[in-house]
Amino acid sequence: MVAGASILPFGCSNPAVLDTLDPEYYPPSLTGLRGSHPGSNTHAHSRAWDGKSDWGPTTELKEEYDLIVVGGGISGLSAAYFYQQKHDKDKKILILDNHDDFGGHAKRNEHTIDGQLRLGHGGSQTIVEPQYASEVVNGLFKDVGIDIDRFKTAYDHDFFKRNKLRAVTYFNKNEFGEDKVVHHPFCNYPNYIQGIIMKGKLSNEEAAQLAPLGENGKEQLLRVLNGGYHKIDVPEDELREYVRSNSYFDYLKNTLGVDDPGVLRMARYSGLDWSSRGTDLMSIGGAKSVGALGFVHKDVYDEDNPYIHHFPDGNATIARSIVNKMIPNVAEGNKAEELVLSKFKYDELDKSSNAVRIRLNSTVVNVKHGGDPKDSSEVFVNYINDGKSYQVKGKNVVMACYNMMIPHIVSDLPEEQYAALRLQNKSPLQYTTVGLRNWKAFKETEIGMAMSPGNMHQALFMDFPVSIGGYEYTKSLDDPCVLQMIHCPYGETIGAPALDQFKEARYKMLSMQFKSYEEEIRGHLIGMLPSELFDFDKDVESITVNRWAHGYSVSGGGDSVKVGRQPFGRITIANCDSAPGADAKTAINMASRAVNEL
Ligand SMILES: Cc1cc2nc3c(=O)[nH]c(=O)nc-3n(C[C@H](O)[C@H](O)[C@H](O)COP(=O)(O)OP(=O)(O)OC[C@H]3O[C@@H](n4cnc5c(N)ncnc54)[C@H](O)[C@@H]3O)c2cc1C
Repeated sequence: MVAGASILPFGCSNPAVLDTLDPEYYPPSLTGLRGSHPGSNTHAHSRAWDGKSDWGPTTELKEEYDLIVVGGGISGLSAAYFYQQKHDKDKKILILDNHDDFGGHAKRNEHTIDGQLRLGHGGSQTIVEPQYASEVVNGLFKDVGIDIDRFKTAYDHDFFKRNKLRAVTYFNKNEFGEDKVVHHPFCNYPNYIQGIIMKGKLSNEEAAQLAPLGENGKEQLLRVLNGGYHKIDVPEDELREYVRSNSYFDYLKNTLGVDDPGVLRMARYSGLDWSSRGTDLMSIGGAKSVGALGFVHKDVYDEDNPYIHHFPDGNATIARSIVNKMIPNVAEGNKAEELVLSKFKYDELDKSSNAVRIRLNSTVVNVKHGGDPKDSSEVFVNYINDGKSYQVKGKNVVMACYNMMIPHIVSDLPEEQYAALRLQNKSPLQYTTVGLRNWKAFKETEIGMAMSPGNMHQALFMDFPVSIGGYEYTKSLDDPCVLQMIHCPYGETIGAPALDQFKEARYKMLSMQFKSYEEEIRGHLIGMLPSELFDFDKDVESITVNRWAHGYSVSGGGDSVKVGRQPFGRITIANCDSAPGADAKTAINMASRAVNEL
């Protein structure tokens, strides 16, 4: 097994009562099962699934805060920052998070390969469409030293072109009968990587012929590729409504006569994380907007909207920059850029001398007003740390955690609000980062991104080429690099309701051991790359599987989000779920709203 086996959190002394974390405590360097790592969701699941309320004897800590924030993702961290800005800097704030690291989905993955540090993102990856950022977001970015314009030069627009790294499709033996790479992406998904050579080497006709499908399948694939709106036989003035209200899979089956399971599989996995669900649940218009099979080489992103605003550790740099602004001595550097290579001192996070404290490994299980929520001046927050129950007191609380969790935690919520919050959901998602010793095999085979419809990770690509703050993206073929692998888990049954698919996929995701993930990744890379160019045991140094059983925000529909996020006494609600929108800018905007409501 490669050096990916989960390393247990380094003897952390109990952060709940002592303000010391082991100085060696440094979660970004952990590999193996990360994201929502094993143990992080145990208590939340006991509460939500089994209704557990007896947590044993509770230690009432002699700690009182002006604000307690539940959830240390970008939204929770922003809420703490905004609160500090609005009030006296000495106000006491406590941020509680169930993970062993702060940042929530914005997770930093470090791989040390032959002594060289390589960074990757374990979740929230890029500042999307920064030109649409609100004043609040721009203000925060300015305060914490994030300069959006820096990416114009930090992002190597030419990397993929210079190295002739293209978008291809890898068909695996298991699903398609043979291992084969065809130089054509068959969909628009890879187009968001600026500079990648989207156009395969092959024409649609050549590519369809080479696809390992039966004769019927090849014909059908070509029909889809040459399809598009012009194949839909409805009057021009009805087209808009037609593509909005008719399903993409019905269009494939009925309009284009597709029934080949291989082609349908390619179609289902062709939009991936551009949406929270498979294309089997999309309208024709929805499928087009995510660049699904048949809607190729049309721009999802235009020249004015480049997808380049990506720190080497993704949006983890946003989280780290906010933490750096609030907690003295946690890192060296001021501007975001200067923090890229900075090793954060986690033992500074929860010091009693700090105005803002971040307490990790702490799952909040109960939040209750001291009296009638209408006029109560205090809120009690119970959390579990290291298996023990603790209580702290705050004058105000921002719930910046997954909104679907709130009804299980906040006592006495009004019925309507409780019901609305219960409707909120999140789709599962998994980003795996792989530390590679070199990328010769990718260069030789001209693979920059591989759509992989037969594999667990339905797409993989060489990480975004960004050099910033002293961090250098891989330069020569012999340099280590990080491979990003994307897994959008769906249910087994095509077309099954989204929530059922999420649930099924979540259980499967959480029940798998690292060994099985590693086997899958091994099979994927060995099947795709020629053995004379790639040796898994030699070339792969480390694997980090970031499982997000609760990933993208999915609204409960109707007014449920607005009803759910109403202030309740001294408690307000943030997190990007409360917009909803799976976006870092949204997470920040929601934090600002929640603090204003307080
Ligand atoms: C794989 C992936 C990729 C993404 N890529 C992008 C991208 O490229 N760009 C973009 O803008 N957005 C992206 N997103 C969306 C992402 O959700 C937001 O960018 C942002 O990081 C969300 O921040 P948040 O604080 O609202 O939520 P979260 O990051 O989810 O933070 C909430 C925190 O609360 C914690 N929590 C939950 N319950 C409890 C409890 N009971 N007690 C204590 N803590 C609790 C959670 O564990 C979590 O740490 C991505 C999301 C995922 C999953």
